[in-house]
Amino acid sequence: MLKELIVLKQLQELDDKILRNKKEISRLPKVVQELEEKYSSEKESVKNITQRLEQNLIEQKKFEVDISSNNQDINKYENQLLTVKTNKEYKALNAEITHRKERNAEIEEKLIELMEEESVLREEKKKFEELYQKDQKLFEDEKTKIDKEVHVLQKKVAELASEKDKLAKEIPDLLYRKYQRMIDYNNGKAVAVLLKNGTCSGCHFKVRPQIMVEVSRKDKIITCENCSRILIAPE
Ligand SMILES: [Zn+2]
Repeated sequence: MLKELIVLKQLQELDDKILRNKKEISRLPKVVQELEEKYSSEKESVKNITQRLEQNLIEQKKFEVDISSNNQDINKYENQLLTVKTNKEYKALNAEITHRKERNAEIEEKLIELMEEESVLREEKKKFEELYQKDQKLFEDEKTKIDKEVHVLQKKVAELASEKDKLAKEIPDLLYRKYQRMIDYNNGKAVAVLLKNGTCSGCHFKVRPQIMVEVSRKDKIITCENCSRILIAPE
């Protein structure tokens, strides 16, 4: 086999490995990103629930102040009842007292609703806090692990690239540049196998019988007429 063909085949094998590693390098951080999105959304839920809870407690406080103010009024009017002179005054005071008692009953109903909501919110908050802490931990562990994996893969790619540089020196510079251009623009494939049925493994084009004969001789560089990839005979 022509030496150039042997080198080109080896270069392609190195590029296949580089491509596989690069794909993995770009895939891994997505796993971490999904975990980060999950725990961030849980963190956001905790924040929202906390705000609703704070609002709920403010409303409860406000209603409690209203009840206490109504009770003070009721006390005051009941004391005044002891000293009233006329029936009209008596009726008016009693009406005020009744009105405030009714008002307090309404407020107490609302307070109970708020307290029920408060207990639901507290439970939800606890649930999301636990989820968030668990998933944040998971994210941090996974991130550490994946950062390490990416680092190892990057080192591997650098090693493969330097192996490629060494190998490239064994073929004419022009041929190597042509090879590399196809790697860059042809989905990482510069060398294709001419399959036994006469089709190029790179583009599935069926080549002329003459090309098949020339490729099988393995003594010069033959390219696919359709995709320009360098054709090599099957093993
Ligand atoms: Zn082709």
